[in-house]
Amino acid sequence: MARSSVKVHKNWIAGESVASASGKTYPVVNPATEEVLAEAQRSDARDARDAARAARAAQRDWWHTPGVDKAHMLHRVAAVLREQREELAKILTLEGGKPLIENRDEVEWVAACFDYYAEVGRDAKGRVIAPVAHHQLNLVIKEPFGVIACIVPWNYPLLLMSWKVAPAIAAGNTVVIKPSEMTPLSTLAMIRAFRELPAGVVNIVTGYGKEAGEPLCLDDDVDMIAFTGSIATGKQIMTLAAQNLKKVNLEMGGNDPFIVCDDVDIDTAVRGAAWAAYLNMGQVCTSAERFYVFDSVADKFIERFAKFTRTLRIGNPMGPDVDLGPMINAVQREKVEKKLDEARAAGARILAGGRRPKKLTKGFFLEPAVVTDVNHKMALMREETFGPVAPIMRVKGIEEAIRLANDSEYGLGANICTRSLENAMMAMENIKAGTFWINDPLTDNDAGPFGGMRKSGMGRELGVEGLEAFRDTKHAHIDYKGGRKPYWFPYDWSHGRKTE
Ligand code: NAD
Repeated sequence: MARSSVKVHKNWIAGESVASASGKTYPVVNPATEEVLAEAQRSDARDARDAARAARAAQRDWWHTPGVDKAHMLHRVAAVLREQREELAKILTLEGGKPLIENRDEVEWVAACFDYYAEVGRDAKGRVIAPVAHHQLNLVIKEPFGVIACIVPWNYPLLLMSWKVAPAIAAGNTVVIKPSEMTPLSTLAMIRAFRELPAGVVNIVTGYGKEAGEPLCLDDDVDMIAFTGSIATGKQIMTLAAQNLKKVNLEMGGNDPFIVCDDVDIDTAVRGAAWAAYLNMGQVCTSAERFYVFDSVADKFIERFAKFTRTLRIGNPMGPDVDLGPMINAVQREKVEKKLDEARAAGARILAGGRRPKKLTKGFFLEPAVVTDVNHKMALMREETFGPVAPIMRVKGIEEAIRLANDSEYGLGANICTRSLENAMMAMENIKAGTFWINDPLTDNDAGPFGGMRKSGMGRELGVEGLEAFRDTKHAHIDYKGGRKPYWFPYDWSHGRKTE
């Protein structure tokens, strides 16, 4: 497709579609076909500035909008999203490569998130505390921070945006969204839903991290940065935030363990394990990336897992009848291939997959891989792979599985597959992870806080914790009589103390 014939999308600032001050655009590529889908604005510091100012200008009125009206508008955003479901799901598929059937779910989860915070956001969550003297009243009040920069990755472009934007605006903040440069089109298509809000409450600036994201993090009108992405970028964002002591909420990478005990139905465990490892081509922050299987069932599990993995249907994510689409781009695929090569060179065996499918000559496809004979020194076990790879280690029992699961600098999620209450509870109590799944990997709950321990994150999204993340706290001390106080100047030294 010739670049000149594709649609050029604009930023969205103060309720208007505007071109970048840079005068530049960049191509957004379909990872399944390698064709250019559209052009988006290649924004720079001037656009970040305009968007942050627009958000600042809208914030005071938005904060003081009655809670019942705010809730109504958030529900309206959810309603319009549901009307747009098929359109948004198609765009998500075209730009991100997840199968359409998954993206229909993603749009519904986004709508559900706006509905959830429409209600949870109405609860002021402040409190009245005991005063220290008569005729006084002490209030603990929750206030918005102001303007939030929401910096989003490409793997769940709308969902991870909604986990920031819905609670942030429900709490009375206004936002500037910087979608991933790879998947800006779905967020821009949501402008229709965002029109349910006053102009300036949500603003969208597209472009690259260095050019558009960094200046946004440094902008004087941005009070807080809510970020989801890699640990490397998270560190950069913390450094940028430190320059002006801005607040941060960071959701970063994971390397989640998945334990399979000896008491499970093997075929059920295989299905759960394959979904946890390969969903969205393993490009999920909570993908299961390391498997620890009890020795006594390991042979059977590995044999069936490899067999099942070979049956997964890989192809055009628009469907029908595919389970897996492409990876997001050539760089991501090469990173995974390199990790597999290194593991093979160090003695690992690739039992299934790990190759580019011969019949798919265009697109960033890769066959899902089952890898055995791995050890805990390999990068495959120690670092986030973010690809369709399931490395499997044998363990003697639950103690060893827990020890290896914890031998990591990450702590996003963890899984166990067992019918033993004792195994499940021991693992849940002892493994460092922000979310622990027992027999049902990777499911989220809007009311359940989500986030990482250790280097996987700082702060939480979703649940009431996800709303509190976007609220500051003020203590108001009120003397409703307003008389002169005995502890003010001049001091009376006759008692030896200021107050009796
Ligand atoms: P990334 O860190 O490369 O980019 C994320 C976002 O940050 C993008 O919008 C990018 O443009 C922006 N960015 C990059 N450099 C920047 C800078 N210097 N200043 C400001 N913004 C900058 O991550 P990605 O490749 O888009 O996403 C994959 C990563 O995200 C994986 O590590 C994955 O585990 C993680 N992730 C975490 C969660 C979670 O909830 N913990 C969820 C999904 C993905």
